[in-house]
Amino acid sequence: MTTVVWSAETLAHAPGAEIWIGVRTPGTEVAERVTVIRDELVAGGFPLVEAAPHEDEVLRAVHEPAFVDHLREVWQQWEDGGYPPDYGQDRVVPYVFPTEAMLAGMPAHHPVATHARAGLYCYDTMTLVGPGTWQAARAAVDAAQTAADLAAAGKRVAYALCRPPGHHATPAGYGGSCYLNNAAVAAQALRDHGFAKVAIIDVDAHHGNGTQAIFWERPDVFYGSAHVDPGAGWFPHYVGFADETGTGSGQGTTLNIPITPESGDAAWLSALTRLRDAAEMFGTEAVVVSLGVDAAADDPESPLRVTTSGYRETGTIIASLGVPVVAVQEGGYHLPSLGTLVAETLHGLAG
Ligand SMILES: [Zn+2]
Repeated sequence: MTTVVWSAETLAHAPGAEIWIGVRTPGTEVAERVTVIRDELVAGGFPLVEAAPHEDEVLRAVHEPAFVDHLREVWQQWEDGGYPPDYGQDRVVPYVFPTEAMLAGMPAHHPVATHARAGLYCYDTMTLVGPGTWQAARAAVDAAQTAADLAAAGKRVAYALCRPPGHHATPAGYGGSCYLNNAAVAAQALRDHGFAKVAIIDVDAHHGNGTQAIFWERPDVFYGSAHVDPGAGWFPHYVGFADETGTGSGQGTTLNIPITPESGDAAWLSALTRLRDAAEMFGTEAVVVSLGVDAAADDPESPLRVTTSGYRETGTIIASLGVPVVAVQEGGYHLPSLGTLVAETLHGLAG
């Protein structure tokens, strides 16, 4: 049975809200996601282990150290600055972003105000930082790394019940409900364990722009993703298209398969087969699965309509690579079906 790695600390983050086009709505990336998945897996007989603490070395290999430090400190700075009592804002919410449009090629000075620094490493208004955000995000990294350790020690499949998710976190940016890139940490940890080539197969409904960016120039890590077509108006909007294939020595190690909304299992599974075949051609020695289940029919966050048996088949297709698998939880927001979707995918991955 596949080992499930989790940490109670991942429950510490409460999104507080998502601010979309200026409208404050309740966040969907809630702690209950972890408990419903955990409870269903335990009921199904999956063994549960605690994430083991790890040093920051791998985390700082995939993210810019200054970005990691910022995320660790920004909530405390916000609280020390009096933003909750003085302005009624109980989350770190940026109001200015130092984009290319603002800087126009000029050098940016380091901003003094906490409310200005809030925009330094953040790229949307949907991903707020609260009192437990760092603790949860860092615990999710430990879970991913623990699962990679298990795979390196001979487990054929290990699963990290990560939360918050990570695949939208870039080398120096957070957004899309993601803060630290758990899948990227797992892939780098596998590389450090001696797997010469590692493939990441991203089955979340959305393109993992952060993971793609982290490995964009890397010849040793393949990134392949099936996801709802950003060209049809879906997040992350600006990237995730089929013409993105990597650059430099990473040319050809990125493969995006955008999928038309409402296309169901047939288009999804044919894309998964293409990703599997590309990972095999790449010569991968281990696989990280970015296991979002928000492509499922009941999920409110995507229109892909993949069935539960489609998710199980997704696992079966990836398992046929015959290499160790580390599955890392990404999205999935329909609480009543979340546990079953994950369990079925893990059964597929177990072959
Ligand atoms: Zn997603």
